[in-house]
Amino acid sequence: MVDSLLARRRESLSPSYRLFYDDPLRPVRGEGVYLFEANGKACLDAYNNVVPAGHCHPRIVAAVAEQSAKLNTHTRYLHQTILDYADALLATFPVGLNRATFTCTGSEANDLAIRLARYVTGGTGIIVTENAYHGVSAATADISPSLGEAAPLGSHVRTVPAPTPGVDFTVGVDSAIKDLQRHGIKPALLVVDTIFSSDGVFADPPGFLAPAVETIHKAGGLFLADEVQPGFGRTGHTMWGFSRHGLVPDMVSLGKPMGNGYPAAGLVTQSHIIDEFGKNIRYFNTFGGNPVAMAAALETLRVIQDEKLMDNASTTGVYLMAELRARPSIQAVRGAGLFIGAELTDGALAARVVNNMRARGVLISSAGPAGNVLKIRPPLIFNREHADILLTALDGALADG
Ligand code: PMP
Repeated sequence: MVDSLLARRRESLSPSYRLFYDDPLRPVRGEGVYLFEANGKACLDAYNNVVPAGHCHPRIVAAVAEQSAKLNTHTRYLHQTILDYADALLATFPVGLNRATFTCTGSEANDLAIRLARYVTGGTGIIVTENAYHGVSAATADISPSLGEAAPLGSHVRTVPAPTPGVDFTVGVDSAIKDLQRHGIKPALLVVDTIFSSDGVFADPPGFLAPAVETIHKAGGLFLADEVQPGFGRTGHTMWGFSRHGLVPDMVSLGKPMGNGYPAAGLVTQSHIIDEFGKNIRYFNTFGGNPVAMAAALETLRVIQDEKLMDNASTTGVYLMAELRARPSIQAVRGAGLFIGAELTDGALAARVVNNMRARGVLISSAGPAGNVLKIRPPLIFNREHADILLTALDGALADG
């Protein structure tokens, strides 16, 4: 069956699609932190951050089903749920971040942020990290060096080294600004994923981002916190990755976990950034912010809050990181909450470990420019017992080398 599905994919899908694992996964059902394959095998999911509340959370499934059965339209009609959600969402942000625009994907949210930055600053220059990923649209692929050399960066884009130990992130941002200016390009935007996931997960020390944001502001540019990966409680104790850095972004993009799997994403901005743009330019996203998406997002947010998933992310994350640090074959362990990077000596070893763990029924992946960082990002309901299952599989996989 797997072979015939593989053959059909090759026949009819774009070759741009990539599958995970040498032995591709074919899940047919999900529940909590588990995915079940067609043959009934259960896999512990330590990778899918799109379902913070776990796969098929009954409250969220019910909210989607109920709203789907009642009405699904768009943002050109009045509807209460979008307002209830906007209020609940904005209440999780620092004062000042007080306007929400809803989209279907993180790419669309970042795309809108780029348009806003250009509109507000009159500039075009954009600064990103060396292995950043910010989306699939033309404008966001232009600022996504992790897509590789075949996907050229825009001539208005400059990259800066990720904040690896010993690298002063602000110095990189400063020289990127100067380089843009030397080429006659006015800086418009600094954008970072606040957990630096595709760069290899860099979380510490908290606060290191703040001076870089000051630097882009002084140069007349804006700061966009891309919270598509770390947002909605993943970093533990706090809802947003940027909060660990003691700063207030001009714009914040949201996605992946927002609807617990239902397509929901958006951009939260300070009103002075978007109000003029909004008066002059219409924004209508056919599916973004529709009543079903908003029902999914509202229930997801309530579950994150009711089930205290931020606290769980913090407690389980602290335990898991301490256990990983005790393994001598792991070079470094970085992260916050349940976003964890465990660095191995090389990318080939990391690939073998990821595949070996998949064979043992535990799903993780790898990240970083060399692919040598194990990326561990489970649903936020992941507890100590699940962490122990992961660690046993990891020990086996590391021993097999
Ligand atoms: N920003 C970051 C940091 C991401 O990881 C992603 C998705 N991997 C995106 C933006 C784009 O989100 P989407 O796939 O929903 O367009």
